[in-house]
Amino acid sequence: MKAVKFEIKPLLTEPGSLMDISFGPEQELNIEDYEAYHFTSPLSFKGDLLSEDSGILILEGRLSIDYEAECVRCLAPIKDTFECDVREYIYPLDYKTHMQDLWDLSDEEAEDLPDPEMDPDEFLFHDGSRVDLTKALEDLLILNLPISPYCSDDCPGLCPVCGRRKDDPNCHCDDENISDSPFAKLKDLL
Ligand SMILES: [Zn+2]
Ligand SMILES: [Zn+2]
Repeated sequence: MKAVKFEIKPLLTEPGSLMDISFGPEQELNIEDYEAYHFTSPLSFKGDLLSEDSGILILEGRLSIDYEAECVRCLAPIKDTFECDVREYIYPLDYKTHMQDLWDLSDEEAEDLPDPEMDPDEFLFHDGSRVDLTKALEDLLILNLPISPYCSDDCPGLCPVCGRRKDDPNCHCDDENISDSPFAKLKDLL
């Protein structure tokens, strides 16, 4: 896997400026399979880094990745693209001490400010020259993926009597016979 790194010095010298950091599959940001998801393309991202005051950068855009999975209701194979919007703050490593000096804050008052020693996983940081978004984008993907994949939002699931999809024209079962069926137990699981 290639790392997704960007030079950010020009951005930081000019608060308010934007940098396009879009990349596609050619960047080979491959993601390992996660839970029910098998990823069939590298991660792509379309978006910007925006430079704010105090060295903060804002990562904003849309990530996308192709995947295969099995619908948890009807077990049909799914081939789809997952997309979601992201917006994340990226702080300079010395943000906490900088703000503490600037606002004359006590240690207690500054307690919740992002600190790379205290919260390395809770916040994103940059070192003032380059930002590595490899792990950040992977984490954002995992965070935003639905826990269970569905073939469609209104998937009816399987008939507990005949085992076909409930909207299958060959399913003529009526729900009253459910308790006699070997599939009856499945109903509780779905
Ligand atoms: Zn389904
Ligand atoms: Zn049926």
